[in-house]
Amino acid sequence: MDRMSHDLGDRRAPDEHSSSFDAAFEVTRFLFREIRRDLPGQIRNTAPRLLRVLADVTATFRSAHVVVLCYHRVRTRERFVDQMAALSARGYSVVSMPQFTDWLHGSPLPSRPAAVLTFDHCYDEQLENAVPVLDSLKFPATFFPLSAGLADRGPDVVGPGRSTLLALTKAGHTIGCHTHTHPVLTRLSTTRLRQEVLGSKLTLEDALGQRVSAFCYPHGANDARVREVVREAEFDVAFTVDLGGVNRGDDPFRLKRVPVLGEPGSAELAGYLAGRFLVSGALLLSWKVRERLLDRAALQPERDG
Ligand SMILES: [Zn+2]
Repeated sequence: MDRMSHDLGDRRAPDEHSSSFDAAFEVTRFLFREIRRDLPGQIRNTAPRLLRVLADVTATFRSAHVVVLCYHRVRTRERFVDQMAALSARGYSVVSMPQFTDWLHGSPLPSRPAAVLTFDHCYDEQLENAVPVLDSLKFPATFFPLSAGLADRGPDVVGPGRSTLLALTKAGHTIGCHTHTHPVLTRLSTTRLRQEVLGSKLTLEDALGQRVSAFCYPHGANDARVREVVREAEFDVAFTVDLGGVNRGDDPFRLKRVPVLGEPGSAELAGYLAGRFLVSGALLLSWKVRERLLDRAALQPERDG
């Protein structure tokens, strides 16, 4: 600021007008310098996000053989009942993860169109609001818990215990792997990456006494190195959170899903499942915003008694 005032001071009278001009000029110059200095970082952060939004908005899965629904929050049982009704009304049959994997590797589907139901994290809410509905409809689903909760249960550890997971498998559901602690896998060293992928698989298999063959990338983050480690760990399939359907011949380690967010009603979900160009993607974008608003509303203290 001092050098700047000095530079301009040579040419201007030091009145109030010129010093406010100097300050504005200096602030502008500072901002431009900061923007220019951090421009590569900003492009690095923003560009993938923009590409992702663009890919989602333009996604179309109208004629996809299978849609893999991806659930996180399931806030009410009533809404989930409506959504399952919308799925059936559109003619989808719900297939299990083993049926889906067999189909991807060449076996026929029991019927078409087919849907796979996946639940990331195996939250208590999913167990309370979705599982009774799934069980009453005899819809098989896949749950992707973190395995940290199995290795060391303590006050800070979240995630379902072994008995919960065993009960789910006994009811005909599948348990998949979502790593040990949910890191962004693309940012890990290869050693840590293997611990999170293979380590988590072995922990789950040890707890369940059966093979775990489906993987789901935390935050959807994957690249060629991450996919190779997942393949090496002998998973059959791995899911992203990119919007889209699945067709035979798709890369089994880069499978797209159809996220259901923001508690849509049956009509809205039916429109989304049509998978139309610009429609489903725009709906997903609006649901992402709604999801944030729902979370914020839940955090706000109750007003007016
Ligand atoms: Zn997750």
